[in-house]
Amino acid sequence: MTVPETGFQTLQAAQEAGAVTLYYGQFFNSCITLLIVAIAMFAIIRSVNKLDQELDEAFGEEPPPPEEPADKKCEYCRSTSHFKAIRCPHCTSELTPPQRPTSQME
Ligand SMILES: [Zn+2]
Repeated sequence: MTVPETGFQTLQAAQEAGAVTLYYGQFFNSCITLLIVAIAMFAIIRSVNKLDQELDEAFGEEPPPPEEPADKKCEYCRSTSHFKAIRCPHCTSELTPPQRPTSQME
């Protein structure tokens, strides 16, 4: 293949001659498309996060789950066992059942 001294005048002439062609326009187009998509994704995600934050502020966050009471301590062997246990797993003595909160109304 011989390249004319003035170069190929058109892309079609270069392709017909079998010359190597670099499609830099397509590369720039892909870069711009990527940039546009990235900006759009950034804007959408930021607005969703802002909306989520506003909803949290408007309706309040979820209340924390009720805390479990502390584990029981055996009066006889001084070991600790689960707060729902009714019998000590170490010395098998009976433990007091969990106290229910008594109402303050009279
Ligand atoms: Zn015990």
